Amino acid sequence: DVITVQELANRMAARAGEVVKALFRMGVMATITQSIDADTAELVATEFGHRVRRISESDVEQGLEGEADTEEALEPRPPVVTIMGHVDHGKTSLLDALRKTDVAGREAGGITQHIGAYMIQIPSGDRVTFIDTPGHEAFTSMRARGASVTDMVVLVVAADDGVMPQTIEAIRHARAAAVPMIVAVNKIDKQGVNLDRVRQELLQHEVVVESLGGDVQEIQVSATKGTNLDKLLEAIILQAEILDLKANPNRAAEGTVLESKLDKGRGPVATVLVQKGTLNQGDIVVAGAEWGRVRAIIDDMGIPLTGAEPSEPVEILGLSGVPGAGETFVAVEDETRAREITEFRQRKAREKVTAAAGAARGTLNDMLARIQAGEQKEVAVVVKADVQGSSEALGVTLGKLSRDEVKVRVLHSAVGQITESDIQLAKASNAVVVAFNVRATVQARELAVRDGVEIRYYSIIYEVADDIEKLVRGKLAPIQ
Ligand code: GDP
Repeated sequence: DVITVQELANRMAARAGEVVKALFRMGVMATITQSIDADTAELVATEFGHRVRRISESDVEQGLEGEADTEEALEPRPPVVTIMGHVDHGKTSLLDALRKTDVAGREAGGITQHIGAYMIQIPSGDRVTFIDTPGHEAFTSMRARGASVTDMVVLVVAADDGVMPQTIEAIRHARAAAVPMIVAVNKIDKQGVNLDRVRQELLQHEVVVESLGGDVQEIQVSATKGTNLDKLLEAIILQAEILDLKANPNRAAEGTVLESKLDKGRGPVATVLVQKGTLNQGDIVVAGAEWGRVRAIIDDMGIPLTGAEPSEPVEILGLSGVPGAGETFVAVEDETRAREITEFRQRKAREKVTAAAGAARGTLNDMLARIQAGEQKEVAVVVKADVQGSSEALGVTLGKLSRDEVKVRVLHSAVGQITESDIQLAKASNAVVVAFNVRATVQARELAVRDGVEIRYYSIIYEVADDIEKLVRGKLAPIQ
């Protein structure tokens, strides 16, 4: 079954009751929270005068993947490099030093922007893109989302410190992602460093550098002195040649969101890495569950561009919202298509939340039953209030209601009306939503009904405290 009666009604902008009646006439007994199958939904929708177009995951994905590129269409593209290594081994220093080697001369017009990645040109004319978020989280969280943006990892090992826990972690990540490594032994300017020791330690983790007969390139550098940065870049280019990195620049753009934020003046801003095709100003793109017309493309020097090619990291403006890091983006033919895909993705995302919350969730009745049975040890609460003072007071008051058997946990306490995200939060944590002198948006109310999240409305603090205390004691009478 694919859709609940309520959701179908929502999408047709019809009353749920009317849909139930229509189903009844067709011999299908269903309540508004029940799900019906695609064929039945289509019949009902047709009866309501709608033309039905079914979109399945495969439709969307197929559409998004587009045609496979022929060998002739592929052109060389710059490598995308992530720098990893133990804390304080010099990742940031190396990223800064490498950035300064850029010979493209774009400095004239711009100021270095930290957008999560940058591209440099080396004297040979080759270009290299560096992911500018040191630390392993960015790398792993992207991989967790199925995004692979990195072609190779530069493993930074401080010569005076050797292989440390995060070095080992980095080796594991690179292996898991099946991307080749280049070892940059850093801080060689320091006194009394023992390079052989570093090589032996790497060997213990099956990273065999060339001088020990392996195939991992090892470059000795000093990030602060700028020693051998050219050699490191050459090693990267050599590795890129071995990988034979190519993409078709002459097609609709596809890539991955590296970072995103909500900028006060500019609205949602996403740093994207173009991986296929060319992204042009004016393109309509879908990024995760957001979409928009690309209003501006800005490079890492803050310079506006009209287009961006494979391996180029750029900021884009014009999206409807802030997509998550690691989400894919793709340029599509028109707005209708963009809407279709984002709606589909938003629905999928909601379903995922629902599924994840799954067994744990329940209405207040279930919660009470579990508390009475001693199965539930915590009452989670989401508080929304009309003024800051109330939200704070409620947070404190409710926190004090914790007992040994059952704790009260205020997940979130803020000012404002109740929105869908409050409901999603409550649902994911099996929480009650307390509305103090505020209302819920229509969408939030619908979502709450669908997901079985209880919103309780109050205007007196002690009544809130009273109810939650009863709930903690397993005595609350539910609202019918
Ligand atoms: P990260 O934590 O890996 O990003 O390391 P940082 O780049 O922040 O560097 C940590 C410390 O090591 C800083 O005090 C740097 O100045 C220092 N450092 C980085 N590279 C070198 C180097 O090549 N030589 C020396 N002597 N110190 C360095």
